[in-house]
Amino acid sequence: MASHPSPDQLFKREKKVTPLDSRRVTQRRSERSNAFMQELRLRISSLLQTTLDAERIVGYFFQEVQSAVAVDGMVYRHDIAGIHFSQGTKGAHKASYQLNTTDDYFGEVEFTRRKRFTESELVKLESLLDLFVYPIRNAVRYQDALRSALTDPLTGVGNRLSLSNALKRELELCRRYDRELSILLLDIDRFKTVNDLFGHHVGDQVLKTVADITCQSLRDADSVYRLGGEEFLVLMSNTSLEDATNIGDRIRRNIVHCEIGPGSRPDITVSMGAAAYKAGMTTDTLIQAADKAMYKAKHNGRNQVQQAT
Ligand code: GH3
Ligand code: MG
Ligand code: MG
Repeated sequence: MASHPSPDQLFKREKKVTPLDSRRVTQRRSERSNAFMQELRLRISSLLQTTLDAERIVGYFFQEVQSAVAVDGMVYRHDIAGIHFSQGTKGAHKASYQLNTTDDYFGEVEFTRRKRFTESELVKLESLLDLFVYPIRNAVRYQDALRSALTDPLTGVGNRLSLSNALKRELELCRRYDRELSILLLDIDRFKTVNDLFGHHVGDQVLKTVADITCQSLRDADSVYRLGGEEFLVLMSNTSLEDATNIGDRIRRNIVHCEIGPGSRPDITVSMGAAAYKAGMTTDTLIQAADKAMYKAKHNGRNQVQQAT
């Protein structure tokens, strides 16, 4: 079995923390051999293995650490993965650590307290922190894998799988609580010509820009998915057909005025079909209704929004 890196390889105390270079390795060893700490390590280790939810791991660790060192607050941050969880309250005194495995960086942990940490408390915290590194690494990786399984890599919006999950969930809510739900099906006009005249690279840039503008034109509760090719779907819960049509028109106008990039660039327009959920509809029939309306927009001259009948 591969040997695990020592705690010193797993995390490093950041420079801004009171340097404790004078601490003795023997001191840390004596702390670790303490029977209570051994038992606590075992408990933390098995508890952190019970979940792949990063927020829960932070919560469990914070709660268990208390029995060795009274900490007021704990923050776990991984900016690249977009993770920031805090527990407890803030204090003026801080002990910060960067979490590293031999080949990767897995965020930062900060313990805070109103009262200054003593040297022996910091040694205890450090001896427990190595139990946190691998579980949080696995949770961050898991979350990342989940996210990429549901995301369109080119545009960053949801993919078909995530649309299918979301639509099923939303339709269930409509049936149960008699709520409104509308969708917009958006198709870029004459996109083949964009590729033919400007190349696929510019075509890809157009797809990204259309996705960005669509996301920026919506409320937080709405979500955008790429159906494939140059088609996108916007999901809007608690939204009437009328409102969806107006929102669609706002997106359309924002796209007409968009800048794709420097130099000679295509003028982009989009056509949209709006449809609202009606009793008895399935996810497929709802999308088909929006699709039909979108084709009506194409036949009527493109660069417009049409409503499903
Ligand atoms: P319409 O206005 O009727 O929608 O015409 P259109 O040219 O947009 O429609 P058509 O379905 O004929 O062409 C869609 C094009 O989208 C063809 C395909 O090569 C291109 N396409 C699909 N996926 C991608 C992609 O990921 N990147 C790029 N650059 N092009 C793509
Ligand atoms: Mg199309
Ligand atoms: Mg098209």
